[in-house]
Amino acid sequence: MERIFDNHFHLNFHNDYMNSVMIFRKAGGTSLNLTNLPVHGDATSDHYANLYEKHIRMAKDVKERSGIDVIITIGPYPLDIFTLWKDISEGEEMAGKGIDLAVKLCREGKANAVGEIGRPHFPVDHEIIAACNRVMEYAFIQCSDSNIPVILHTEDLNADGAREIETMAVKNGMKPEMVVKHHAMPQALLLDSNLVFSVPANRSAIRDSMDSGKAFMLETDHINDPTNPGKYLPADAVPKRAEWIRQEFGEKGEKLLREAFFSIPERLFGENSFRI
Ligand SMILES: [Zn+2]
Repeated sequence: MERIFDNHFHLNFHNDYMNSVMIFRKAGGTSLNLTNLPVHGDATSDHYANLYEKHIRMAKDVKERSGIDVIITIGPYPLDIFTLWKDISEGEEMAGKGIDLAVKLCREGKANAVGEIGRPHFPVDHEIIAACNRVMEYAFIQCSDSNIPVILHTEDLNADGAREIETMAVKNGMKPEMVVKHHAMPQALLLDSNLVFSVPANRSAIRDSMDSGKAFMLETDHINDPTNPGKYLPADAVPKRAEWIRQEFGEKGEKLLREAFFSIPERLFGENSFRI
């Protein structure tokens, strides 16, 4: 079977999550990077332990019931730092603990990557950005030790932002080739950067990204949210766009798909994480 990999997919364990998985599979999808959603409400000291446990259990269930490959990404969502806890300093401390636990689970083989971590995609106080950056640097230190990939959620990166993040990674021993900017805009591919970019699977973003000549991954950032069905790219967007890429771009398209579905994910998550 041919691999078709969506590099950023969310499922909410409170909803009928198999529905989205089956839509993905029916369209030809074979492999997902399943990233935990943030959970709101009262946070307790075992917040991340509970969240990761439920997420990993759901990922196993998806694997067993659908037969698709699931890469498991776990981590403290950037907004948690200032939305979940009594103040930013407690938020930073808890996010650090959330990173520690995510790294531990990756080391034990129960998860594959740490993410989505980073900083808000909208303007916030510099104090919050500083706390988020410290957490990111902490994650780079912890993950570089065990060669664990980091999936980032940040603002749309310009040249300065991309350089800043790459510098933070390198300074802390992390290879930029192991750091993924999720929801990357095509402009990011034109930057002189060694970060990995994962692009939304819509036609215009793909076309513009291909103009750069660089390799990138494809993602939907899908969420199975029955109350908001049109808000996110549909579950079958990556398999459908893969077919379109093949028809539209010929050999150039085949090359992109080999990089997006094979070379980059295998470098990040390891060849053995994929059965398909
Ligand atoms: Zn996401």
